[in-house]
Amino acid sequence: MRLVLLGPPGAGKGSVAALLKKNFSVVHISTGDLLRDEIKEGSPLGKEAKSYIDNGNLVPDEVVIKLIENKIKTDDQIKNGYLFDGFPRTKNQAKGLDEILEKIGKPIEAVFYMETAADLILMRLTGRRICRDCGAVYHIHRHPPKKEGVCDQCSGTDLYQRSDDKEETIKNRLDVYLENTLPIVDYYEAKGILNKIDGGLESEELEAIIAKTCHAS
Ligand code: ADP
Ligand code: ZN
Repeated sequence: MRLVLLGPPGAGKGSVAALLKKNFSVVHISTGDLLRDEIKEGSPLGKEAKSYIDNGNLVPDEVVIKLIENKIKTDDQIKNGYLFDGFPRTKNQAKGLDEILEKIGKPIEAVFYMETAADLILMRLTGRRICRDCGAVYHIHRHPPKKEGVCDQCSGTDLYQRSDDKEETIKNRLDVYLENTLPIVDYYEAKGILNKIDGGLESEELEAIIAKTCHAS
């Protein structure tokens, strides 16, 4: 399984990726997670990335491509299967990724484009809360923890809102998405590897569709 999950913020890429990772042996690579790890560590790269992320803008292509290149070089498991989530986000990144994957002889097999309506995106993102300790993701209405303010997975008590999940920042993230990321749908369509799926479906349903499509091909 060698996949890319493409779609606007709030399409549910991370949730579907978590299910696929659990059920298939694929390495899940999220540039958003990698960048937030760098910020947490206080690395120079993290310091550079922070202001872009907080404002809902894209981190420069060179920075994320380098990050991905390092990850691919150092993680041996990637040859057995991968799942990119939130990367690529520009045409430049898509081309850069193709070059890197060509070098290891493991090109992308399928891209799943999760089309999602704007009102749903806003509802999902403004209600999203994340456990500071284990990264589990909740939604204040759709998927609250069993006990308010306490993580089901690890009993952590710090369920926080991502700084870029505030309404003003979400609007900018959507504009950035439409301008920079949507054009790569055409890029993958021209390569004949694009599959459109409905981001409004539940993650379990999407995971089943993706698994079936991959096994059928
Ligand atoms: P979402 O898909 O919900 O926006 P992510 O965790 O994928 O969340 O990304 C959060 C932020 O991290 C983005 O708004 C952007 O600033 C930065 N980022 C993540 N991936 C990339 C990328 N491939 N290129 C540039 N910036 C990125
Ligand atoms: Zn937790």
